Amino acid sequence: MLQLKFKPMLKFYYLLTITMMMTLSSCDQNKKKDQSSGENPLLEKFTTTYQVPPFESITTENYMPAFIDAMALHNAEIEAIINQTEPPTFENTLADMAYSGELLRSVSSVFSGQMSANTNVEIQKIAEEISPLLSEHADNISLNPKLFARVKAVYENREHDSLSGEQAYLLENVYRDFVRSGANLDSEQQQKLIEINKKLSMMALKFEQHVLDENNAFQLVIDNKDDLAGLPESVIGMAAQTADEAGMTGKWMFTVHKPSMVPFLQYAQNRDLREKLYKAYLNRGNNNDKLDNKKLFSDIINLRIQKAHLLGYPNYAAYVLEERMAKNPENVLNLLNQVWDSTLVVARREATQMQQIIDDEGDDFKLQSWDWWYYAEKLRKQNYNLDDSELRPYFKLENVRDGAFMVINKLYGITFKPISNIPLPHPDAQAYEVNDQDGSALGVMYMDFFPRESKQGGAWQGEYRVHQVLPDGEEIHPVVTVVYNFTRPSASMPSLINFDEVETLFHELGHALDGLFAKNTYPVTFIPTDFVELPSQILEHWATEREVLKMYAVHYETGAPIPDELIDKINNSRYFNTGFNNMEFLAASLLDMSYHVLSDTGAIDINQFELNYFSQLGLLEQIEPRYHSTYFTHIVGGYEAGYYSYLWSAVLDHDAYEAFRENGLFDKTTATSFRKNILEKSGTSDHEQLYRDFRGKNPSVEPLLKNRGLK
Ligand SMILES: [Zn+2]
Repeated sequence: MLQLKFKPMLKFYYLLTITMMMTLSSCDQNKKKDQSSGENPLLEKFTTTYQVPPFESITTENYMPAFIDAMALHNAEIEAIINQTEPPTFENTLADMAYSGELLRSVSSVFSGQMSANTNVEIQKIAEEISPLLSEHADNISLNPKLFARVKAVYENREHDSLSGEQAYLLENVYRDFVRSGANLDSEQQQKLIEINKKLSMMALKFEQHVLDENNAFQLVIDNKDDLAGLPESVIGMAAQTADEAGMTGKWMFTVHKPSMVPFLQYAQNRDLREKLYKAYLNRGNNNDKLDNKKLFSDIINLRIQKAHLLGYPNYAAYVLEERMAKNPENVLNLLNQVWDSTLVVARREATQMQQIIDDEGDDFKLQSWDWWYYAEKLRKQNYNLDDSELRPYFKLENVRDGAFMVINKLYGITFKPISNIPLPHPDAQAYEVNDQDGSALGVMYMDFFPRESKQGGAWQGEYRVHQVLPDGEEIHPVVTVVYNFTRPSASMPSLINFDEVETLFHELGHALDGLFAKNTYPVTFIPTDFVELPSQILEHWATEREVLKMYAVHYETGAPIPDELIDKINNSRYFNTGFNNMEFLAASLLDMSYHVLSDTGAIDINQFELNYFSQLGLLEQIEPRYHSTYFTHIVGGYEAGYYSYLWSAVLDHDAYEAFRENGLFDKTTATSFRKNILEKSGTSDHEQLYRDFRGKNPSVEPLLKNRGLK
């Protein structure tokens, strides 16, 4: 439920740098000869139908020269902004900056799209090569003092200029990005900031490397068949194979990787071995050896406090959250604490039910954290037995896809028309022309359903082109893509997907709508990470509605609609283990915040800190936080003071969907308001206000609590 299904892959032209975070490379870009001879399709204006990228004529050799040319052009555009003699205005500085780099945006989005869904060794190599160059390119712009001076002049004059809402929002965000990169600091402080950033990214790499090594360090080797009691055959088979690959043929091996560990915790009757395996998992990075992360973690937190102070913030959370919808740590803590109290009640109830099973089975021990999965599985069988194979026949991929199109059509009147005459990012992909209800064009959408070797795992939405209105008034329509990894059809069987995949299909289409409905003038938008999942998660709600399921979930052979009894099971299953799921998530989110609201530097005793914090919080002793500090890679590698975001977005989508529940699932007025206020304007205006414009009030946490069975 809290899984992040969105990979913000193609959003900005320098996004590649975010995943790679290279700081030490010193590639000599002057040596890179521009080899483009006018025959590089990436550098030509796209003349295909709908001006989509001419995927079929682009070769791997085209990318590098295209990147180099596009960066050079971008630099020239920035130079022209700086060197003009006109005094700075929004138009000649901010607008020109926003439109600049169009070629680089185009090259990067084609490349990122191919890298994620149609990759090969050469493309990976180009990614490694180009990443530091793009990073350096972005730094050169964000640390350019002359450019900043112009932006600052416009910013300081903003009261006198009559800017539109979108312009004011763009200006504020661009200015803030400069300031956050240290543009307002003196050169000595800037140097200090650069040092801190460098250290932080090196430490993050080391921390993550330790966790990777820890994941592979522990092996639970079993040579006595009795110790496998309770495990399903498939799990035993996998463990035998793992052992075999490690040169221990005839034995069984389990590791702390979740796909290996979780089934063991769920099914293994041997309680001591469950304890051994789970403790190994919990103690990653906490073994006082060369992979220990405690000091590293403390150092990272301290450097972040220094960085926050240098930039004028009381703590690191204040620095991070300023750019989020939550705005400050108080708002985040307020939300987490609101959900905490109801969660505690439900988690206690779950623990009591499990203890009851233990007692009933005549055992004499108190439930511990390594017992939770085992007894949760028993509870699941008792109360929520939902068999995947019972459901799949009702979820033929094509039926689900058409069901999602139908929901979107009933809400917004828009249509998806399959088209066959345009280039495809991969032969497996399908293309659709998306039209508004009056027949006018909205954009093009690709759908790419099945796994293949050249595709990364998971599901995501990306953009090959973003919406914008050119200075001459021409409207550019977006080209979006949704990519999945669903079960392939076979000769005898169509693709029948499970319910999780059904929700994923709706989810990514929700992101696509956000792109297709966009009305932004400038091709640069700013969407806070705690808002970005609202358009996607809200669409999932329709997928589970009884009246909607009855329309699209029909048996692939008989055409009979899904029985009510199965719908009840689907809807009930969301209450399974909900106390545990929410509590382990909240504990990790609160732990994340607790470090990032610290305002004084000083070595932190990580184990003691956690112990104090969780006991003060009242965390059940049978539930561990989803992450302990020593392996909490999210909050080391880019999601710091941000783990709460999943919940924040969830509050929004539950509350927003409540408006449809109140007014009618397909109420036109509500849908139009959601489109106008949220989908058309996301990234171009204050998101708290946008939400209020749609809902007429601030979001309430109540619908989420009810939906998750926490109230
Ligand atoms: Zn998403």
